[in-house]
Amino acid sequence: MGEFDLIERYFKRPARQAVLGVGDDCALLQAAPGTQLAISSDMLVEGRHFFANVDPCLLGHKALAVNLSDLAACGAKPLAFTLALALPRAEAAWLAPFSQGLLALADAHACELVGGDTTQGPLTICITVFGEVPVTDGRSQALLRSGARAGDDLYVSGTLGDARLALEALRGTVSVPAPVLAAARLRLEAPTPRVALGLALRGIATAAIDVSDGLLGDLGHVLKQSGVGATVDTDVALGLIASHADYSGAGGQFFSQIAPDQWLAWALAGGDDYELLFTAPTAARETVSAAAQASLTPVTRIGRIHAERGLHLVDKHGHTVNNTFCSFDHFA
Ligand code: ADP
Ligand code: MG
Repeated sequence: MGEFDLIERYFKRPARQAVLGVGDDCALLQAAPGTQLAISSDMLVEGRHFFANVDPCLLGHKALAVNLSDLAACGAKPLAFTLALALPRAEAAWLAPFSQGLLALADAHACELVGGDTTQGPLTICITVFGEVPVTDGRSQALLRSGARAGDDLYVSGTLGDARLALEALRGTVSVPAPVLAAARLRLEAPTPRVALGLALRGIATAAIDVSDGLLGDLGHVLKQSGVGATVDTDVALGLIASHADYSGAGGQFFSQIAPDQWLAWALAGGDDYELLFTAPTAARETVSAAAQASLTPVTRIGRIHAERGLHLVDKHGHTVNNTFCSFDHFA
């Protein structure tokens, strides 16, 4: 199979919304009047972001999911994406499930593959997504990292830490019962981008970011860009680890084998969660919960924003918890 066969077979489909899709030197998109384009890229490298033996269908899903997560954090509606792919070999056994996982998620979000590049090399997947944000009365409706204000509530969607638990289990650093691992592994390998929530939060959230490198690290970006500080409730964070909540009761052997500090580190700095972390005024609590319901996405209030700079952790009794957590940095 040659380069052009490969593109034709696995990645070329008739253009839908795009004016021109795969097959020419450029794709053409028509931006709707009164909108801005939101653009983001994410790269996945074998051995760095995924194991060599990962299911290619899940890898296709995840490669797009992490990009859609950035659009979600911006409150942008997905439109289209490009795929730059370096592959060691052109193998149908890998390409067919990869493109299937990728295009199934693309279809679910009406996000069209309009172009890309294909080359031989170590397996690397680079996607660029294009989304749309309305401009009303001359103001962009995009959710930014810079909008958090003193007095705002701090929220996070979904669950935390399970992806990291799965990563540690696959690395062999912890031993995890099979049903726990199966559930946690889906969080690592098939994350759900919170696109509907991001759209529902336009005009409500004051700031937003997606949690990819760990909650505290990503929160740090919001605090820095907004010029504020925050206090986070560690017991609320612990309650958001699905496997922790599910296995802390009757079958609690596994739960107690892992130190509480370790659980907390995974929740607050585990990485690969792809949840939305956002702020909103306290007066908007009901609107936030209506947005969560409308988008079928659970949302939890996990802390608050204040004028005093810095990131403070407290437990449910209000006692300070030492913050020694490190979030992910490729070059640290
Ligand atoms: P060029 O040499 O002009 O950059 P290519 O020969 O690399 O174009 O690609 C031919 C067409 O196939 C282009 O429209 C390009 O966008 C598209 N394409 C290449 N690789 C991919 C891919 N992995 N997924 C989707 N479209 C692709
Ligand atoms: Mg090219």
